[in-house]
Amino acid sequence: MKITDKITALSGVAAKRAALYNKLGIENVGDLIAHYPKDYIDYSETVKIADAPVNEQSVIKGFVTQKIPAARIRQGLVIYKVIVDDGSDSLTVVLYNNRFAYEALEKDKEYRLFGRVTGGFTRKEMNTPQIIPAEETRLIRPKYSLTEGLTAQMVITNMTEALRSVSEQIEEFIPDEIRQRYELCTEEYACRNIHFPESSHAAEISRRRLGFDELLMIQCAMGMMRAGRKEAAGCPMKMKDIAEFEASLPFELTGAQRKACREIFSDMCGQTPMNRLVQGDVGSGKTAVAAAACWLAAENGCQSALMAPTEILARQHYATLKSFLEPLGINVGCLTGSMTAKQKNEIKAQLLSGEINVITGTHALISESTEFKRLGLVITDEQHRFGVNQRKLFAMKGEKPHKLVMSATPIPRTLSLIIYGDLDISIINELPKGRQPVETYAVTGKLRSRALGFVKKELDAGRQGYIVCPMIEESDGAGELQAAKAYAERIAEGELKGYSIGLLHGKMLPAEKDAVMADFKDGKIQLLVSTTVIEVGVDVPNATVIMIESSDRFGLSQLHQLRGRVGRGKYKSSCILITDNATEETRARLRIMSSLHDGFAIAEEDLKIRGGGDFFGSRQSGLPPLKIADLYNDRELLGDTSQAAKELFAASPDLSEYPKLKEKALALLNENGSEGMN
Ligand code: ADP
Ligand code: MG
Repeated sequence: MKITDKITALSGVAAKRAALYNKLGIENVGDLIAHYPKDYIDYSETVKIADAPVNEQSVIKGFVTQKIPAARIRQGLVIYKVIVDDGSDSLTVVLYNNRFAYEALEKDKEYRLFGRVTGGFTRKEMNTPQIIPAEETRLIRPKYSLTEGLTAQMVITNMTEALRSVSEQIEEFIPDEIRQRYELCTEEYACRNIHFPESSHAAEISRRRLGFDELLMIQCAMGMMRAGRKEAAGCPMKMKDIAEFEASLPFELTGAQRKACREIFSDMCGQTPMNRLVQGDVGSGKTAVAAAACWLAAENGCQSALMAPTEILARQHYATLKSFLEPLGINVGCLTGSMTAKQKNEIKAQLLSGEINVITGTHALISESTEFKRLGLVITDEQHRFGVNQRKLFAMKGEKPHKLVMSATPIPRTLSLIIYGDLDISIINELPKGRQPVETYAVTGKLRSRALGFVKKELDAGRQGYIVCPMIEESDGAGELQAAKAYAERIAEGELKGYSIGLLHGKMLPAEKDAVMADFKDGKIQLLVSTTVIEVGVDVPNATVIMIESSDRFGLSQLHQLRGRVGRGKYKSSCILITDNATEETRARLRIMSSLHDGFAIAEEDLKIRGGGDFFGSRQSGLPPLKIADLYNDRELLGDTSQAAKELFAASPDLSEYPKLKEKALALLNENGSEGMN
């Protein structure tokens, strides 16, 4: 048998069972071996039948005292029962249609059984347990994820045969020196012991090895992507002194902004296209950094495109870039979906002629059919987590422009190693001078009136504010819209009577949203009530208070984003988190918001609370799904693998010295193609 043979090469696997395996993504024998247990049953931890908790899974150890003759209940259903006694009590073991298991059980012999004990008041029963003879010495057995029709026992039997037949074919692909330095067991040992460990220690070192493989492969794949991008830049540029640009700004750049600009400028003047991510906390001034990059491009006769996730942001960036760049003789344009066809065509013509130097717009508009005279720089402003779209951007071919992504969500440093392994990163970890941390209070709904009273005081002082409406369960936005409207009307009639209140929600047309935002920016609207689609990234320095309903439903990083709408100017600002869920856990989580103001620190906490699996949500990261490693619990392994990857690339920049490793990394890249890591 070969490791690449179809799963049907295993005995007992015909078309029907193969189809079940296919459902789990298992096609061949090698795939089966890579179907790692999700946990183990430890048969050494037995409980007395008399003490076994009802409706919970337990391991019991007892003698078969009686085998009850098979009962045919109906066509296709035969029930086999045996009585097992351990001296404390006895229970009935029930096996459905499993003559094989029934016949294997011998009377007066002792077994260990794992299963759910039922029947608190009646006779105790255990249905379809997993059973091993008591004299068995390997007491740690795998638990697999299964699918309807595929039992644990089937997988165990097939796995045993697969490992017996092909384990010699399992190749070592990690070079010896790396294996020794990082104290890794062999691949073959790991593959056998992850399934049927000799001891819990064996299971642990196998898991570490396989997790190492997984994280190392991702980093090697990213390293190869990075190496593959070493084509010549379409637009190499000449360095300029940033002071010239800074002179036109209404403020001085912060040290962190200057450092990011230096890194970007140096990339843009290099031989290969820039692939850089700017990670900056909310309000750290990423737009000014983007403007600096556009300025350098324009000074070098190249055009720049700045793409935003929403129209409101595209327009805001347009206004900002215009104010920074037009005094320097740079022509800024904007392209949005709500423009008429005629207007769009006009802008597009100016892009083609080169009349417009810098264009802002939404992702779709700029990437679609727009042609440039000489596009040298593409920037995306990403308000959400870095994801698949951005990786697509980096894979973008054509004129080989320099690429820059600005991410507003700090990612814990440990994770950025793997998430952004293919990119260079600049971090803006400093806020402009004079910013005061936003005072944050978490209160229950009982204090809502007082909170609104506080909002009112801010409005009376000439400031502005936001209220984020309660989240409601329905997925369709209509209900949410109703709720937001009702909420806005209620406060307009009640606590905030006489103030000008605007409403922003996801069902509005872009032009309508723009109009509301424009009125808010101009101060015509004092208080903006918004559904959860609030446009993060919106910059209105006069806004000093944000009140967030259902705050317990948000992740900490999200709350930090929302809170970042205030505290953007010279005024002291506040954030009021309202929750009707007063559990200690919720309160503890929200208290973190009161004490932490640094997005990176908050992201660490968020990761701690939610764990690696949930941190990114629906595969937002653009990474292949992890089978065995966990980005939170395996932080140490992450560090080790990133170090190992560095060593490998240092020794062999295209990994050609390590052909087996290279082959695996390439396979990962191809598998994940444009959807995944590209
Ligand atoms: P973000 O990083 O969240 O996108 P913005 O680019 O919107 O932040 O900047 C936030 C606010 O800070 C804007 O009003 C901007 O004009 C201002 N700002 C940016 N850099 C500085 C600076 N160095 N000094 C003072 N204010 C600044
Ligand atoms: Mg921004």
